[in-house]
Amino acid sequence: MIYTLNNYKTNYKNNFDADVCIIGSGAGGAVTAYELASMGYSVVVVEEGGYYTTKDYDGKPLNNMKTMWRGAGSTVSFGIPPISIPAGKCVGGTTAINSATCFRTPEHIIKQWKENLRVDIHYKNLEPYFERVEKIINVTELPWDVLGNCAKIVKRGADALGLHCKPLKHNVINCKGCGTCQFGCVEGAKQSAEVSYIPLALKYNTTLLTHCKAEKIHFKGMKAHSVECRVYDDKGKSVASCTIEAKIIVSACGTMITPLLLKKSGINNKHLGKHLQIHPCSRVVALMEEEVNGWAGVSQGAYIDDYADEGIMLEGIFVHPSILSASLPGAGREFFELTQQFSHVAAFGVMVHDTTEGAVFGNMHTSFSWYMMNMKDIQTLKNGIAYLSEIFMAAGSKKIFTPISSSPVISSYDDIEKLKKSYLKRSHIPEVFAFHPLGTCRMGGDSNCGVVDSFGKCFNTDNLYVADGSIVPTSLGVNPQITIMTLATRIAEKIAEQLRK
Ligand SMILES: Cc1cc2nc3c(=O)[nH]c(=O)nc-3n(C[C@H](O)[C@H](O)[C@H](O)COP(=O)(O)OP(=O)(O)OC[C@H]3O[C@@H](n4cnc5c(N)ncnc54)[C@H](O)[C@@H]3O)c2cc1C
Repeated sequence: MIYTLNNYKTNYKNNFDADVCIIGSGAGGAVTAYELASMGYSVVVVEEGGYYTTKDYDGKPLNNMKTMWRGAGSTVSFGIPPISIPAGKCVGGTTAINSATCFRTPEHIIKQWKENLRVDIHYKNLEPYFERVEKIINVTELPWDVLGNCAKIVKRGADALGLHCKPLKHNVINCKGCGTCQFGCVEGAKQSAEVSYIPLALKYNTTLLTHCKAEKIHFKGMKAHSVECRVYDDKGKSVASCTIEAKIIVSACGTMITPLLLKKSGINNKHLGKHLQIHPCSRVVALMEEEVNGWAGVSQGAYIDDYADEGIMLEGIFVHPSILSASLPGAGREFFELTQQFSHVAAFGVMVHDTTEGAVFGNMHTSFSWYMMNMKDIQTLKNGIAYLSEIFMAAGSKKIFTPISSSPVISSYDDIEKLKKSYLKRSHIPEVFAFHPLGTCRMGGDSNCGVVDSFGKCFNTDNLYVADGSIVPTSLGVNPQITIMTLATRIAEKIAEQLRK
């Protein structure tokens, strides 16, 4: 059963009860819901956003950002530089607006969690969970023609330099590469949570409450017993209230919100809201002699991990022309002339495996994050931009646009060498984004090192779990959705064990 705005009783309190109440329907929440519902437990999923499907998408970024992106895409961390950290606010969560790239958690990262934080997870034991997730969301390798010309050009440059450019894996069925992944998949190819896990959960005893925002979890002693919510219409007006009583409560609101909900609900832990890591990233745009037509092909086609030891991952990032063209330099006629060559523009991204930690503050109505990139990460980002410029040059580009204010245009190998040797200030890279916030309710061996245990159970509570990106203790160096879904599958199994008892 799905509750949309029309289904709520507006003048009454809407009461629900279930074995499990899951707050959030993204990567973590949707997986937990399906796994538990399919084991026979009754589930209520509370989701603040609406339910959008292919028929609602027109491929126009601004239209879909207004409805599906939190704050219409305005979520930014404070610091120098300020960093845009977008997230989904809709059924499917951020998976509905992500680029569909899939990576398993690197084995050495899991070892670090064990060594540093006593997280009791072994890579070998995770393998069946990875396989289960990858099967349900159909993780697959697409042909180079669908990956697009940007990926092919970067591969050509990488081959010339002896680097390894490899195709990324994606969770899609029949993807033709129309490149609008981040604004709702107009082909209906992306197997994001609202297309895969949520419909599967709804086949069982699952109630999905859309437009419903959880505001507080109530406790009796150490036992969480209900979730207090309000229903907001599309203009943000409160139109109804809801209470969900459940034996188990799971917060899956995402890294930026779960710590605030826990704090509001009385959870007290020195790590709550801290250790925010985000994979800061940026882009390099290159003018090619050949026609690129970068919009034809998935937006994130290929990757190069030869520089992983330096904390650098190079990954495709050709976004909608209306957005990418904004990163071209110049103004007036100069800008106009560049846009006339847009079919010759190639773009690729640089992602940093960060060492910086930030934090999330505020309350359920006004929240903000602080993330001041440390100088090591700034130089790592700069080096990634230099390596990528070198790759584009080796692929034949004569004019490369970087996001670095002190070297905006690169047109020779000398320029690249100069960039490599330079020491950047924070303010020299104004254009930084981040798509993978993690760590604000991290797992740990006990409450001295984490907020939740290795199965997502919140320390000092009997039955409150967290199953989203916030429990991932550190950044991964790779995109996180498979990690989050895998951990959620494992957490659902643990919850079922507790319910059986
Ligand atoms: C543009 C973009 C591209 C990305 N591309 C990739 C990619 O290609 N590969 C990859 O692995 N990762 C990618 N990511 C990241 C990935 O999608 C996220 O890491 C992942 O979806 C996070 O899962 P989650 O469960 O923590 O949170 P989310 O998926 O964000 O789900 C949280 C849900 O909780 C809801 N919610 C929040 N607060 C409340 C509340 N109080 N009450 C009710 N509901 C609430 C939200 O509306 C949301 O639906 C991308 C992210 C972005 C922004």
